[in-house]
Amino acid sequence: MDILIVDDNAVQRKILRSQLARLGYDVREATDGVDAWTQLQREPSPIVITDWMMPGLDGPELIVRIRAADFPGYTYVILLTAKDQRTDMIAGLDAGADDYLIKPCDLHELRARVAIAARIVDLEQRLRTARDTDALTGLRNRGAISTAAQTELARAQRSGEPLSVALLDVDHFKQVNDHYGHQVGDQALRLVAAVVRQHVRPYDLVGRWGGEEFLLVIGAGEADATAVAERVRSKIAVTPLVLADGQQVTITASLGVASTEHGGERTLEALVHTADLALYRAKAEGRNCVRVAHDVTLPSTTTTSSV
Ligand code: GH3
Ligand code: MG
Ligand code: MG
Repeated sequence: MDILIVDDNAVQRKILRSQLARLGYDVREATDGVDAWTQLQREPSPIVITDWMMPGLDGPELIVRIRAADFPGYTYVILLTAKDQRTDMIAGLDAGADDYLIKPCDLHELRARVAIAARIVDLEQRLRTARDTDALTGLRNRGAISTAAQTELARAQRSGEPLSVALLDVDHFKQVNDHYGHQVGDQALRLVAAVVRQHVRPYDLVGRWGGEEFLLVIGAGEADATAVAERVRSKIAVTPLVLADGQQVTITASLGVASTEHGGERTLEALVHTADLALYRAKAEGRNCVRVAHDVTLPSTTTTSSV
C-alpha cells in the first residue's frame, strides 16, 4: 500500500521512509505541504503521514485541503509532530487528521498505527468495489459504468477523439428463463458477461446496464466500434451455455452502436439513447445482429446498417 510522507526535514523523511519500507509499504516523499498538495492532486495516496510545522502550507492546512478534495478514495492522514500538548492533538484531530503521533516515534508504535490506517483504507476500498460491482456478473454496475463512461466522454471531448457506445440486449431472454428456469438464466448472463469482457480490448469498458442489457464503451470511432460489437455478437452466438446434463443452449444478442464521431451526441444520455434506437432496429430486423445509429447506408446483405 502507498504512503506519502510529508516533512520539510530530509533526515526525518529518510528515517521514516526506511522504517516504512522495511514494513513493506511503498513510500513517496513530499518536501512540504505545497509539494504534497501538488503531488496528491496528480496522484492521490491512501495514506499520508505529515509533519505539522512546515513553511508555506503546514500539516493541518494540508489536511483541511485533503478533506475538502474530491479524491476517488479515502485519504487516511496521520499527523506526526513534535507538538506534544493535548491542545495541539485536539487541534490536529479537529483539522481532520485520523491519528496523531508524537515525535520521536517508536518503530513498534509506528507499525501498529500504520496497520490501523491500512486496515481502514482496505475496508474502504473493498466497500467501494462492492458499490461499483454487479453481484451477478462481476462487471461494473449501472452507476459505475455511467460514471466511467462520463469520464471517458469528457476525456474524448477534450482530446477531440471519437468515443462510441454499444448497447447489448440478450435475445428472447425471457424464453431462456421460462424454459430452463431463472438459475440457468443467471448462468447465461454470467456467460454473456464473460464473453463480452474477453472480446473487447482491455481499455474498453463494459458494464451491466440493467436486466439482460450491457453497455460497452469503446474508445474508437463508429467503424471500429461496430467491428468490436460484431465480434462480440458472433462470439456470443458460437459460445453455448452448457447445462449440468450436458445440454447446450445457444444464446444470441443484438447490439446497437452510437458514436460521437458525427458530432451529434454530446451527452452520455443522448449517446445511449441513440444506441438504444439502433438496438431497437436490430431487434426489429431479426435479432442476433448489429445496427449502427449514423452510418452510410450499407447493402442490406451485411450484418450492419444504419438507423
Ligand atoms: P428481446 O429479444 O426482445 O430482448 O426479448 P427478451 O425476452 O430478451 O426481452 P424481455 O424484456 O421481454 O425480457 C427480459 C427478461 O430478462 C425478463 C426478465 O425476467 C429477465 N431478467 C432480467 N434480469 C434478470 C436476471 O438478473 N436474471 C435472470 N435470470 N433473468 C433476468
Ligand atoms: Mg431488455
Ligand atoms: Mg432481451
